[in-house]
Amino acid sequence: MKINILKGMYDVLPDDAAVWQVVEQVVRDVCGLYGFGEIRTPVMEKTELFERGVGKQTDIVKKEMYTFEDKGGRSITLRPEGTASVVRAYLESGLCLSQGEPAKFFYIAPMFRYERPQAGRFRQHVQFGAEYFGVKDPVSDAETVLLLLDIYKRLGIEYELNINNVGCGKKDCRNSIRDGVKEYFGKRLQEMCEDCRARYETNPLRILDCKKETCMEISKGFKGTGELSCGDCRQYYAGIKKSLDSSDVRYSENPKLVRGLDYYTTFVFEVLAPGLGAQNSVGGGGRYDSMVKELGGPDVPAVGFGSGIERVILAMKSQNPGGQYAAKPKIFVVFQGEKAYKEILPVMSCLRDALGVTVNAVFGKSLKAQMRAANKSGSVYTLIIGDSEIEKKKYKLKNMETGEEKEINAGEIKNLKGMLGV
Ligand SMILES: [Zn+2]
Ligand SMILES: [Zn+2]
Repeated sequence: MKINILKGMYDVLPDDAAVWQVVEQVVRDVCGLYGFGEIRTPVMEKTELFERGVGKQTDIVKKEMYTFEDKGGRSITLRPEGTASVVRAYLESGLCLSQGEPAKFFYIAPMFRYERPQAGRFRQHVQFGAEYFGVKDPVSDAETVLLLLDIYKRLGIEYELNINNVGCGKKDCRNSIRDGVKEYFGKRLQEMCEDCRARYETNPLRILDCKKETCMEISKGFKGTGELSCGDCRQYYAGIKKSLDSSDVRYSENPKLVRGLDYYTTFVFEVLAPGLGAQNSVGGGGRYDSMVKELGGPDVPAVGFGSGIERVILAMKSQNPGGQYAAKPKIFVVFQGEKAYKEILPVMSCLRDALGVTVNAVFGKSLKAQMRAANKSGSVYTLIIGDSEIEKKKYKLKNMETGEEKEINAGEIKNLKGMLGV
């Protein structure tokens, strides 16, 4: 019996892998330009890391984690998001020092969430992200946003930026927002969904995240978290906007944007890609000034973002349907006869070494089948080697685009560079 892939998982086949490589390369290049260094953390962590880092009341921790007991009886979780692991590594590596030394990391890594699969959302999905520790200045928030937008720009993605002030962890700030949310939604609680009624007691801010139509309709009249936040938050947020303005970044303020995580403080942002339908968020992030302390470190401020590569690729394909990402093979070698058969591997090696281009062939097939394969491969040139060519010490080189054929000396294939334009 055939064994199929797990629900919510996918394979990346070679044509698609070419697009993945483009995205990953742009992420590495741009993060490098901004001074972020790559970090690679394990796929598995102690469950407690996410409970404390992400928040026990979040949907991720409550419903979506792949959690299991290992053979030693420890509770282990497959990483559902990137930030908590990076904070743990920042602390554990000693890079944090005692006073919260500034550090900038980026990652490209798979995340695991047990959720209902839908377009661009999978149970294993790959995210790139960046985390910027040890600096609290509105310019650092703006620079982090610029980094993400720069990546999208270089990938040719059109985007819209939404920002919001969600208030900080200070008691008066948090209480004022909580009370404001409760006051507004308390009056209409009976019309809202079961989840929201539960959130109203445990985590009222999450109500703003609800995607149910009636709840979204009700929340339309809510004045927003920013207006309820403390003076420090409002001043800091104004500084971020000023900094974005000075870089000519266009943004919209969405007073209900809270994002599905508990750890954000003061600033959150989200990037939407038009044309992706209802689920058009490609990335986002914000400031999270209490997580490092929450995970046992000193009081270190931080800001960061995450972006799902599957969504990014969907956006690239939907916005630029003709985009070519895979390089075509340059030379296809076709051969016929016993003498040629002996020559084929040395000739192919010689071409690869000297020219550094993709060289392909099929073995064990008739000449006709080989020519068919050469046509299908999209190769720019076909090199034809038959026994008579071997005797004359000359090969035939056919330009597949023009159909033009040339004879070249066997000893000269190393020098084809100029002629092939490689
Ligand atoms: Zn505040
Ligand atoms: Zn709801």
